[in-house]
Amino acid sequence: MPATLAHSSYLYKSTAPPSLLRKRAAEPKANQNSDQPKFPKGVCSIRKQSKNSNTCEVQNYALKQALREHVESGCMEDALWVFEKMNHLDTYYWNVMIRGLTDNGLFREAIDFYHRMQSEAVRADNFTYPFVIKACGGLSSLAEGQKVHGKLFKVGLDSDVYVGNALCAVYAKLGCIEYAERVFEEMPVKDMVSWNSMIGGYVSVGDGWSSLVCLKEMQVLGMKPDRFSTIGALNACAIECFLQTGKEIHCQVLKCMLELDIMVQTSLIDMYHKCGRVDYSERLFHEISTRNVVVWNAMIHGYTLNARPFESLSCLQKMQHADKLNPDAITMINLLPSCTQVGALLEGKSVHGYAVRRGFLPHIILETALIDLYGACGRMKSAERIFGQLAEKNLISWNSMISAYVQSGQNKDALELFWDLLSKHLEPDAITISSIIPAYSEVASLGERKQMHGYISKLEHNSNTFISNATAYMYAKCGNLETAQEIFDRMISRDVSSWNTIIMAYAIHGFGTKSIDLFSKMRDEGIQPNESTFVSLLTACSVSGMVNEGWKYFNSMKLDSGIDPGIEHYGCMIDLLGRKGNLDQAKIFIEEMPLVPTARIWGSLLTASRNNRNIELAELAAERILALEHDNTGCYVLLSNMYAEAGRWEDVERIKSLMRQRGLEKTVGCSFVETNCRLYRFINQDRSHVETNTIYSVLDLILRKIGEDKYVHSITKFRPLDLKRKRASSAASHSVRLAICFGLISTKLRSPVVVRKNTRICDDCHIAAKKISEMTKREIVVGDSKVFHHFIDGSCSCGDYW
Ligand SMILES: [Zn+2]
Ligand SMILES: [Zn+2]
Repeated sequence: MPATLAHSSYLYKSTAPPSLLRKRAAEPKANQNSDQPKFPKGVCSIRKQSKNSNTCEVQNYALKQALREHVESGCMEDALWVFEKMNHLDTYYWNVMIRGLTDNGLFREAIDFYHRMQSEAVRADNFTYPFVIKACGGLSSLAEGQKVHGKLFKVGLDSDVYVGNALCAVYAKLGCIEYAERVFEEMPVKDMVSWNSMIGGYVSVGDGWSSLVCLKEMQVLGMKPDRFSTIGALNACAIECFLQTGKEIHCQVLKCMLELDIMVQTSLIDMYHKCGRVDYSERLFHEISTRNVVVWNAMIHGYTLNARPFESLSCLQKMQHADKLNPDAITMINLLPSCTQVGALLEGKSVHGYAVRRGFLPHIILETALIDLYGACGRMKSAERIFGQLAEKNLISWNSMISAYVQSGQNKDALELFWDLLSKHLEPDAITISSIIPAYSEVASLGERKQMHGYISKLEHNSNTFISNATAYMYAKCGNLETAQEIFDRMISRDVSSWNTIIMAYAIHGFGTKSIDLFSKMRDEGIQPNESTFVSLLTACSVSGMVNEGWKYFNSMKLDSGIDPGIEHYGCMIDLLGRKGNLDQAKIFIEEMPLVPTARIWGSLLTASRNNRNIELAELAAERILALEHDNTGCYVLLSNMYAEAGRWEDVERIKSLMRQRGLEKTVGCSFVETNCRLYRFINQDRSHVETNTIYSVLDLILRKIGEDKYVHSITKFRPLDLKRKRASSAASHSVRLAICFGLISTKLRSPVVVRKNTRICDDCHIAAKKISEMTKREIVVGDSKVFHHFIDGSCSCGDYW
């Protein structure tokens, strides 16, 4: 089933008559398993009265007719009413009722009906069981399903093909593919539906490979795939990204003349999208004469998947205007990630408004996509409001809220929410753990991190590659490369992300050659690099200033691996150009790149301008950034610092007042240092620490020794007033220095001092840290908002560019 359709069962469920659902909800829990039917008392009494009355056959015939009609039109409440008025009903009418209840999503009621049927000694047959089994699937109740399965052996229906098919489908739906396989293997006769159940079943558990093997086996036996096998097989190709097999199935579609079947067409479009062939999808899409919402949804989803958010957004207008179709909830769900990708808050908000007007809410999947959008756009209040108002919170919605906090840097809130989740009945999954781990690497102490590591091991997530990758990165981000490497070495299976993680870990620490070594090792092990691999690799080249290697890998991306460079890759190249001082080249590079420059790109140019003290270019870059992100505080601060350095105090004031007007506040710079498993936080001019006096006397001593008290700023064009201002903003007691000093006096001799900082380390502190490392003969590691600086013997791993 294509992902675009995956949510349909959710929608379907809610179509049950509301009055019935209410009745079910009002029933006391203890009654759930009793054989007594759960109908209004009045209905039962009518049944009793009519039992002894002499109903004529004609009347009974009319009632039977009415019962069938009610069931067919989905009026289950009326059908129930009629059912209760009839007596001595045979299996057929019980089956009609059970089928009706199941088809209308009243699964619990369907199962209760089956139990009641047994207690009234009505024989269930091979038409009863498939719907009872389907109801078990609808309730996601494996226990009920297995109970029914057990019963089948007793009544000798275990080898019935119709019943077997239903069992296969339900076990697959519940993710128990082994059970489905066993039922399938033991079926003496298999029909088309049996094969299709397995082909679709493997797809539903994400095993495209087995699904295709199943298709082959079926063909070997001389059976021709029908539309359902074809759709299943196409979805299997989409899962495995088997473009070639997908194309072969496309040929079969043409041979079997299934090409006009809209469901098959939709699956083909979905398959080509997932294999990255948007062009094929587009061609097929344009050939369809009458398009429905589902095929539009597949198109929107495909563009989103292929990081073409603008096309995805423009589909919405086209479907409304050209095809006169109304978007449904799935359209909104498929569209929102596109808004999230480009930070299109306005479009996202209008999707939100539309969903409210059309009454799509509450809808947990849609609301979760909205949380993702608001989180990515930094609108935490809106995200929190939606999360708070969710009628039922599932793990996915918790995960979205946690990662929204992490993305917006509200790590403390993320941790609190995570601890809140742990106190609930929900068990965190791999996504929860990998979303929360970055928060741990930012604000948690080593003790808390170890606790987390232990917790992960207990949850048996240890063998999960996804989690191990995140844990390795957590340690690398905390400046602990050694543990990161250990986790990587101990991984049972390493996927491409594991390699990307470890390459990135060395990259941000400035060990570029090590990253490149790891990359060639990865190739030797036969692992194909993906887009993220090149982000890690190009980051390594840019942080370590390896220009030639950088260009080599950038050019080889397309040639050797068939990957088109994305925004991140271009960003790394601009960093590399900026590092070498090639600002003009960087500017031309941006103008000539085939992608629309984002704030990330202009941010690189801004960094380059700052490092090369080019105010004009910095102003240009800042202007572009602020046009895209009005509230980019970092951009204002950086520009203001550049003006201050150049003594342009009027401009500093101008920026400050601009920030005030927009209600923006400078992030409070703070530094963390960890000793004895405790995390100590320092802000600039901090005097709150118990050992403040010692820290300041050590700092004084060190500054005198490294001669910074005599240090005169190289720019001498300050007027006396400016000099006063300069002194006021002196770096002498910046948080990072206080943290370094505390680290020096409270950690073991010769061990490196590891400090983390939430903002960029300033130039003065960078110079000071180099000198301190030389004077004290200690390695000082400072992880700032960009990279890790390893200060050893008076020089820094970043090569003075960050
Ligand atoms: Zn500083
Ligand atoms: Zn550095």
